[in-house]
Amino acid sequence: MKFPIKKEIAVFYSPDDIVATSKLSDLDFLINIFHEKYPQIQVILQTVPYNLLIYDDNKQNIETVDESYTNEINGRSLWKLLQLGENYEWITLGNHGYYHRPPNGSRTDHEFNPIYDPQALKYEYCYERLNKARQAYANIGLNNNEILLMRFPGHKYTSEALRALRDLNFLGFFQFTPDYHEKWNNLMDGNEFLGIPTILLIYFYHNKSKIQDFIEGKVEIYNFFDHFWEMAESDNFDVFCNVINALIDEYGEKIWWCSPIDLACRLYIERNSYFATLTNSLIEIKINKWDTRWKSSNITIKIEFTSRKNLKVTSPNKEVHYVTERVNYFEGICWVEFQAVPGIKLNLSFQ
Ligand SMILES: [Zn+2]
Repeated sequence: MKFPIKKEIAVFYSPDDIVATSKLSDLDFLINIFHEKYPQIQVILQTVPYNLLIYDDNKQNIETVDESYTNEINGRSLWKLLQLGENYEWITLGNHGYYHRPPNGSRTDHEFNPIYDPQALKYEYCYERLNKARQAYANIGLNNNEILLMRFPGHKYTSEALRALRDLNFLGFFQFTPDYHEKWNNLMDGNEFLGIPTILLIYFYHNKSKIQDFIEGKVEIYNFFDHFWEMAESDNFDVFCNVINALIDEYGEKIWWCSPIDLACRLYIERNSYFATLTNSLIEIKINKWDTRWKSSNITIKIEFTSRKNLKVTSPNKEVHYVTERVNYFEGICWVEFQAVPGIKLNLSFQ
């Protein structure tokens, strides 16, 4: 149920560090080389609203940075273009902390690393910091409902930072997981928070790890990470092409070139849905805990059955945000597509 029907692996690219001083020409490689060659690959760019790593104090804050120093699109205009622009449907914006490093720390410290800033152990501190990022996005005209994933600076975080993320409407974060599978991180309040595995492209750039190891390790989620400028350096893009081509050779049509938010929605639904056989002829599907602020997601439930004649789909609670359903038949397999919305409940009956 995790992936769309007949898809076995999910692939996308999630580079970090779009900042207030980023210009459109900084993305030349991504837009003109990468996207030209692989238009099917969805990209999520992690943004830092107030990056203290920038030396010039006047250029750190996306809300106040002066965009007039150059004629090309930069700063707020660039962030808005990337999120809302017509030719950029293949790009999503994500978050990458607020300051990137603690306000009182050194350049190499990371914002939510408790070794450098013990305040990162406190929920209130994490919430306040990440909420500032939310406010910055709203203030510059971005749609916060589409900024649902993030990567922590330096990949360093605390459990309370995860709880703050969850409370600030994030669906998940990019995490290192030893088996490259999704991870449900336990929060202090008993809930869970989604970690989507990350694969470091630097492994491949430095030839330390070969794509075949991942393929043979049966990795399902290929979330490729670097800093967006790194792929353009030396022969890194050739290496990346080899990796993608190896996946295409191995999986072909079985690759889901997913939007990372769609992937997160599917993982979440898979974790929170209820699927039961009520009688021999009745299956009930229910999704719990859907958050109305999240975008809806098209979900496919696959049910194998022999007769194509007598399947009926009904919803006992049509009044509760029930949207669409469609029954499909292909090669003896039936599946149902519907929109995941709050309170959805479907009955599939075989008569
Ligand atoms: Zn970073």
